[in-house]
Amino acid sequence: MTLHIETALIASSAMSKEGQTVWLKMEALQPSGSFKLRGIGHACEEYARRGARRFISSSGGNAGLAAACAGRQLGLPVVVVAPETTSARARELMRREQAEVIVHGASFTEANALALSMVGEHDAFIHAFDDPLLWTGHASMIDEVAHAGVTPDAVVLSVGGGGLMCGVIEGLRRNGWDKVPVIAVETDGADSLAQSIEAGARIELPRIASIATSLGSRQVSQAAFDWTRAHPIDSMVVTDKAAVAACIRFMDDHRLVVEPACGASLAVAYAGRPELAGFRNLLVIVCGGVTATVAQLQAWEGTLGAS
Ligand SMILES: *Cc1c(COP(=O)(O)O)cnc(C)c1O
Repeated sequence: MTLHIETALIASSAMSKEGQTVWLKMEALQPSGSFKLRGIGHACEEYARRGARRFISSSGGNAGLAAACAGRQLGLPVVVVAPETTSARARELMRREQAEVIVHGASFTEANALALSMVGEHDAFIHAFDDPLLWTGHASMIDEVAHAGVTPDAVVLSVGGGGLMCGVIEGLRRNGWDKVPVIAVETDGADSLAQSIEAGARIELPRIASIATSLGSRQVSQAAFDWTRAHPIDSMVVTDKAAVAACIRFMDDHRLVVEPACGASLAVAYAGRPELAGFRNLLVIVCGGVTATVAQLQAWEGTLGAS
């Protein structure tokens, strides 16, 4: 019994083309609305086994929601310290999962500092992306792909702090797919991995300038950066406009609402980039996300379309 569910793996007729099947791993269908429940669920179970009696998170987004969801299922309290920028909707979703939401500070930095100061002897701090337990949990999505009998030639995924990427690579390697490349997608303005690869060092963005807030980590984890030297990784950057357009198209094609953070990966799959043309089986991680509504996606489409 796990806290996450096994998700569907669908061959997308809308995205597939002559000579290439695009497979969608539907992580948007997780009970918390994103892949994060895999890793965070696994971490919470492990910390509970080690004696934790409360979980503390400083994410006002999908990581906080996954922690809330995991805590509720395990019967343990969850405190989420979220910055003032967290939408009323995200707060409401976390409260619905019975988390205590404390709104504090202008940005993640202040909220995170308060969250860390609250961690006592019987608490576990749940990081949004930088914890080996998370990666091991995320890796289970690749086990499911292998179990379904699909062998990907490349995996397209979105990168924020790099937790999803670390998990997918762990999953690829434990299934003997060491040479399967990862296409790591970010939006312009949240491209901390692309800029680090370019600079040859793990850089920190001065600020986030993208609407894809779930990709808004100013720096990727050391582990994620280290993988760029140990596993084949291709980095791609798309515009916010392309990410939003992909979300809207995806709603029509697959009847699911996802965040621009996920739309970034979908945009790459839809664009049919020449770099991807040689892959017969392209696996796209539909990472999901609950913080964008249909109305908001449409509003972004309007404002970004005009720019
Ligand atoms: C967290 C998240 C990401 C980025 O994951 P990282 O592990 O931070 O790289 C992408 N998409 C969605 C919907 C997310 O919630």
